[in-house]
Amino acid sequence: MGHTGLCIRIFAENFSIHNSQFNMNLILFGPPGVGKGTQAERLRDHYHLHHISTGDILRAAVKAGTPLGLEAKKYMDSGGLVPDEVIIGLVREVLLRDQAEGKGFLLDGFPRTVAQAEALEKIFSELAIPDVHIVSLDAPEDELVTRLVKRGLESGRSDDTEETIRRRLEVYHDQTSPVQEYYNKYRSVHSVDGLGDIDEITRRIHRTLG
Ligand code: AMP
Repeated sequence: MGHTGLCIRIFAENFSIHNSQFNMNLILFGPPGVGKGTQAERLRDHYHLHHISTGDILRAAVKAGTPLGLEAKKYMDSGGLVPDEVIIGLVREVLLRDQAEGKGFLLDGFPRTVAQAEALEKIFSELAIPDVHIVSLDAPEDELVTRLVKRGLESGRSDDTEETIRRRLEVYHDQTSPVQEYYNKYRSVHSVDGLGDIDEITRRIHRTLG
């Protein structure tokens, strides 16, 4: 990076403490098992983002036995989606807090329905968040099932059983893939092949984000 580039970057990093417009904001989109969680952690560290994983927030709430957790558990265990109004309210609160703190965000696992995507657009305009990059990761279904079964054996996640995996992929096709079409219409989407070496996939994401 040249001197000017470095100065601009230092300026942008300092300025971003007060003005979230200079932050990178990302939505990481893709089916269950495509590797969103792994790539999200890398992007979080690289761009210093607040990683907002709705799945992680809900699992923590289930573990803590909060009213949200008790409500969410039944949907999660069956492989279905938590109702839109519950999850939208939760994400709105987190984004409001992030904006107050001047942080860029990385949304992982949200939006998962067109209603959530529409609500998110409203939140963006309410909070005057103009710049959001959407990275869409994809991989063939056989590969997703293999990865999810393997993850279930390793992590013991209660929704990584074969029956629930099948249900979650069905839910993805029915309710979440229309979000991709929604974004293809209204925003530009960086499509990234999620098949292959993890480091190579990270490089692909960095390349497409420039
Ligand atoms: P994940 O870790 O992203 O695969 O999410 C695990 C589970 O949490 C999902 O199968 C859903 O039951 C629930 N969940 C996570 N994010 C959302 C969302 N945006 N909308 C509805 N349900 C969600």
